[in-house]
Amino acid sequence: MKETNSKPAGFSAFSFHCFRNWVLRNTNKMKNRARLTNRYELVSRLFFLFLSLSLLACITQTGGTRGGKASAAGKPLPAVWDSVGERLFVMQENPRPGDPLTVIYYRPRAGNAKTETEAGRPRAVLFALSEGKGSARKKLSSAVCFDFPVDAPGTVNERTAYAAILAIPSTAPAGRLLIEIESHASDQSPSRILAELTIEARGRDFAAEEIPLNAGNTALRTSPDPRKTAEALRLQEILNSAGSTVYLKAAAFVPPVPANTRRTSFFGDRRVYLYSNGKRDTAIHAGIDYGVPTGTKVYAPAGGKVVFAGPRIVTGNSVVLEHAPGLYTLYYHLEKVLAAKGQLLKQGELIAESGSTGLATGPHLHWEIRAGGENTDPDALCAAPLLDAGSIAKRLLETAR
Ligand SMILES: [Zn+2]
Repeated sequence: MKETNSKPAGFSAFSFHCFRNWVLRNTNKMKNRARLTNRYELVSRLFFLFLSLSLLACITQTGGTRGGKASAAGKPLPAVWDSVGERLFVMQENPRPGDPLTVIYYRPRAGNAKTETEAGRPRAVLFALSEGKGSARKKLSSAVCFDFPVDAPGTVNERTAYAAILAIPSTAPAGRLLIEIESHASDQSPSRILAELTIEARGRDFAAEEIPLNAGNTALRTSPDPRKTAEALRLQEILNSAGSTVYLKAAAFVPPVPANTRRTSFFGDRRVYLYSNGKRDTAIHAGIDYGVPTGTKVYAPAGGKVVFAGPRIVTGNSVVLEHAPGLYTLYYHLEKVLAAKGQLLKQGELIAESGSTGLATGPHLHWEIRAGGENTDPDALCAAPLLDAGSIAKRLLETAR
């Protein structure tokens, strides 16, 4: 401020004039300076706001993101839940009711983790989320998690991922589905949610069919019989359990009879049974019926272990194979069972010859798949591999930050 040191002139009017100019000059300067200071303050405030928002975004992401994430190419990646060192995603894009879901839950663990018991393993649980307020959830299905070694160099060094194979029931609505990973440390302690992810399911229509049954088949379906109940309970027990071995390889399933074989019923058909007494009942067809003549060779669709082989009242001679923990395939109405319980099979090995035993209106092979006890569409398992370590490792790397 040069003016402060300058002496006002002796002449009073001139002095006053000068003094007034000096005051005005300084007032304007102070105003300008104040304006300038405000501008600096505004810029710095905006800068700090930007910094805080970025930091908040980082924290939110560390805490877990839900839903799709944009890839470098701009195409949204399938949904992934992402937390510190943890990931949860499904391998299938745009699944439909009836489709299987390969759920991958990845979290770092101690190198020599002890093999967990089935009760101690986390479970993947699938819910339907209703739209609108309250967002009520309805449990659809669940499956046990099992160790699935994934070798993805660089990002994940020798760490194990959990996998679970879920099935979206054919009756599930289109729209938002929620997958939760729940820990079941013991029967005493309540379960904890370890991770959760929402995905979108597309809509799907299923065919309707009417099946007239003669007196014999009507009796097979409707007459109460304690042996039928016992057999049903025994089968439920098998299908709801889960071993710890993955028998299937990275390839997709191959149908048990040639793929182009004529089908007499499809997965998810909405059936109406017309009984011989005039009554009717509804059911959903759980698998695919291939219209093959008696004696047609039936092959293992993937590596597996025979967990049931023998006669049943309703399904006739039957075989059940386990391919991965909680993942089973079933073969009904067989003429001859050629595989024995406990036998390990490779993809394409002979297991049986088809027939028309049990409740059948003619010779055919009924082929069914269960994941976590729930029916799933065989065509989906034939279309793409369920557990391909290479593509799972690739997804882990894609979702890594
Ligand atoms: Zn069938």
